[in-house]
Amino acid sequence: MDFRYTPEDEVFRDKVKAFLKKTFPENEAPPEGQIEAYRTYQRRLFDGGFAGIRFKKIYGGQEGTMMQEIILSEETAPYAERWGGGMNTIGHGMAGHTINVAGTEEQKEFFIPKLLDGSHIWCQGFSEPDAGSDAASIITSAVPDGDDYVVNGQKIWTSAGHLADWCLLTVRTRQDGPKHKGITFLLMDMKAPGVEVRPIAQITGEGEFNEVFMKDVRIPQTMRVGKENEGWYITLTTLAFERAMGDLNLANSMMRFHRRMIDMAKTIKRSGKPVLADNDIRQKIAETYTKLLALKINGYRNLDNALRGGTPGPQGSIGALMGQKTLNPKMTELAMEIQGPYHQLVEGSPGAISDGRFQYAYLRAKGNTIEAGTTEILRNIIGERVLGLPKDAARAAAK
Ligand SMILES: Cc1cc2nc3c(=O)[nH]c(=O)nc-3n(C[C@H](O)[C@H](O)[C@H](O)COP(=O)(O)OP(=O)(O)OC[C@H]3O[C@@H](n4cnc5c(N)ncnc54)[C@H](O)[C@@H]3O)c2cc1C
Repeated sequence: MDFRYTPEDEVFRDKVKAFLKKTFPENEAPPEGQIEAYRTYQRRLFDGGFAGIRFKKIYGGQEGTMMQEIILSEETAPYAERWGGGMNTIGHGMAGHTINVAGTEEQKEFFIPKLLDGSHIWCQGFSEPDAGSDAASIITSAVPDGDDYVVNGQKIWTSAGHLADWCLLTVRTRQDGPKHKGITFLLMDMKAPGVEVRPIAQITGEGEFNEVFMKDVRIPQTMRVGKENEGWYITLTTLAFERAMGDLNLANSMMRFHRRMIDMAKTIKRSGKPVLADNDIRQKIAETYTKLLALKINGYRNLDNALRGGTPGPQGSIGALMGQKTLNPKMTELAMEIQGPYHQLVEGSPGAISDGRFQYAYLRAKGNTIEAGTTEILRNIIGERVLGLPKDAARAAAK
């Protein structure tokens, strides 16, 4: 493994830096509203030739390299944070890749450019009230009727469902036989008649995810990805992209949080001394940093595999388990410890440190152990499919 960037990559990095500096001036405030800010941000990247680095040019992409994609993601990260550029993660991390790998030519031509230029925001409708970890247990049904499917049922925990234009939807098209052999994968227009979205309030106070109800929703058969009843394999592809979604990105963003946490520990005083002088806190900061570095190196390992032509596999679960499920909740907890009694002051409270952004991160991290596969499920995947251990006893007995 060679960690160095080539001279061409460094030239590309300089180009990106110059573009970002010019296109997102520090004194310009992003437009009001989450969607508007995101669309403006994404449109500017697209117009500048910095969106969809690895997608084909005929779909609006750049046909660039994976390293360029990594460099772009490193350099855009602080801008994306300020402009809400990360809000369409399901679109950029999952929908685009899934359609690119498994969609029809018409689907690619229609959807990929609209993803890249910021026109379409995506959500993922896999989970149902009785089908979460066991995503194949869905009961939302789709019945063929002429050129359409007629869809009835309910999804839950649909992140960004209230903002999304399109949804990656799993539906049941066959009732008999093994449950994973009766699933079809559809692309649903969130504005179609019969789609109702009801936000669910989260512990952070936001309604980031939703219930989505579908009553006699007509979805054209041209919006099916893959064959009827073979949607489970498409679902697995999407989930692999979800779990491999950039350990490097995750490590970089967690490192930015870590840096801010150190700055905070330097400024907050306890018994007249900066909190950073406390040996116990220093120890925990160092330990977190060491683990973050391990996460980053694991990201490089995945990158190396991908550069050699590999597709995301079960190894993607290692970074998700280390970073999102384990380290992030711990790190945000440490931020609360550093704040001491101030940690009770959330956004909007007089005296809240950094207007409660650390509190938000701490509360939001609670969902990390559940979303994109629970901690236990990722451990099962790593145990069985990476380490080759026997299947877990309960599931083996159920077969
Ligand atoms: C913040 C957030 C965002 C989300 N966004 C989306 C989204 O956009 N789209 C979407 O479709 N879903 C989304 N989800 C749903 C998420 O994918 C599910 O919540 C998750 O898969 C778990 O399913 P469940 O809630 O039904 O719990 P269950 O599957 O019922 O699990 C309950 C408990 O049992 C454990 N368990 C279950 N099976 C096993 C097993 N075989 N071995 C060991 N332990 C097991 C689990 O680990 C868990 O602790 C989101 C969830 C959260 C928290």
